[in-house]
Amino acid sequence: MSTKDANAQRMEKIVSLCKRRGFIFQSSEIYGGLNGFWDYGPLGVELKKNLKDFWWRRNVRERDDMVGMDGAIIMNRAVWRASGHEATFSDPMVDCKSCKARHRADQLPEKDGAKYCPNCGSRDLTDPRNFNLMLKSYAGPVESDDNLVYLRPETAQAMFVQFKNVLDTARKKLPFGIAQIGKAFRNEINPRNYTFRSREFEQMEIEYFCRAEDGLRLTDEWLEHRLKFYEDIGIPRAKIHILDVPDGDRAFYSKKTYDLEYEFPFGISELEGIAYRTDYDLSAHIAASGKPLDYFDEVTKEKFVPHVVEPSAGVDRTALALICEAFDEETVTDEKGNAETRTVLRFHPRMAPIKVGIFPLLKNKPELVAQARAVVELLRPHMMVQYDEAGAIGRRYRRQDEAGTPFCVTIDFDTVGENGPEKQGTVTLRHRDSMEQERVAIADLLPWLLTRIH
Ligand code: ATP
Repeated sequence: MSTKDANAQRMEKIVSLCKRRGFIFQSSEIYGGLNGFWDYGPLGVELKKNLKDFWWRRNVRERDDMVGMDGAIIMNRAVWRASGHEATFSDPMVDCKSCKARHRADQLPEKDGAKYCPNCGSRDLTDPRNFNLMLKSYAGPVESDDNLVYLRPETAQAMFVQFKNVLDTARKKLPFGIAQIGKAFRNEINPRNYTFRSREFEQMEIEYFCRAEDGLRLTDEWLEHRLKFYEDIGIPRAKIHILDVPDGDRAFYSKKTYDLEYEFPFGISELEGIAYRTDYDLSAHIAASGKPLDYFDEVTKEKFVPHVVEPSAGVDRTALALICEAFDEETVTDEKGNAETRTVLRFHPRMAPIKVGIFPLLKNKPELVAQARAVVELLRPHMMVQYDEAGAIGRRYRRQDEAGTPFCVTIDFDTVGENGPEKQGTVTLRHRDSMEQERVAIADLLPWLLTRIH
């Protein structure tokens, strides 16, 4: 099988597992879905929550120079005029005259120097025309131009327009940053590659304000910080490609941009952009609003417009990268000597949706069930657990393997002291990756798990 076919097959298996196990569903599925929109099921929502919480912890709670905010999705239209989105946030669109499919002109495949339709192969395409990606709505009862609003295409602008309020209330000195996680919307011409390019998605963005002379150095520092973050959630550095975006491909105001790209089965594609945006954004809002968004340095008595470094990551793309990175199939031999395929999601324990599966060995033994329930209550306030008493223990392990649960705990007859006092109060703890088992005292379980999932 060619690498291309193997990758396509791998992606198909991932999509099917995500549906089967409740990570990701098509939005409005019973009505035929809606192109570019996705719902996250019980496991998917936990995965995304773990990702966002860890991002917040690393970028806000563990730093003195960062604060958070949560801006509205809908803002005054003037924001999008000033930022340049109304005039220029567009992609070049072409139509195929043969099959009527619509494509982004800059993503068309090319053969013998001519672009062609990836749908039907025709070269009969319209000229590209610009298509604005902002989704529109109306705020208020009248659908007039005065009431036109946009669903934000990025979270960043709220952090620029609230710069002064945050500065005055948080009393930070440069350099300092604002972080935000939230939904963004883009009317993508051609949503594709599963959740990778959606029309509704979530971003995790930072605007890090600094002096002009520090901009380039801080961009490199953020690159290192962000690479470390990906490592800490289980995406190795070797799987991230750093694209130092060349002159001409960067936005005109950006002095440096790194794209962090991940090796998805469908190709190497962007997870995050880190852009040194100079003072473009604050200056644009100063000019348009007439309000002072500058900074006064108490020591040097200088007044100036800060520059900004923007690390901007996608929640959905990172969640998809986590799933792709974790997905594994291996051949194992069961107790009867039969070979079978074990599907396992090898999430880093800190990202895993369920941290521990808790099983009574037999569901018809009240003392085992009661003890298992007690372990559930012990751990539940601290982490996501799942109780399961259905079926053979091997089957229960396999179910947790597919969900990516790093640890399983089984309460057996030793636990309740039926085989003597020696092992009473201990459980079998099974590791997802090695499938090895060890005995751990119930009294030690919570600290044992906490050090591994934190
Ligand atoms: P692309 O070139 O892939 O369209 P972009 O460079 O326009 O992305 P940015 O504007 O830099 O993306 O947005 C920052 C991040 O937001 C991206 O790195 C990505 O993780 C996420 N993102 C952007 N557009 C989408 C989308 N349509 N679906 C899912 N995530 C997205």
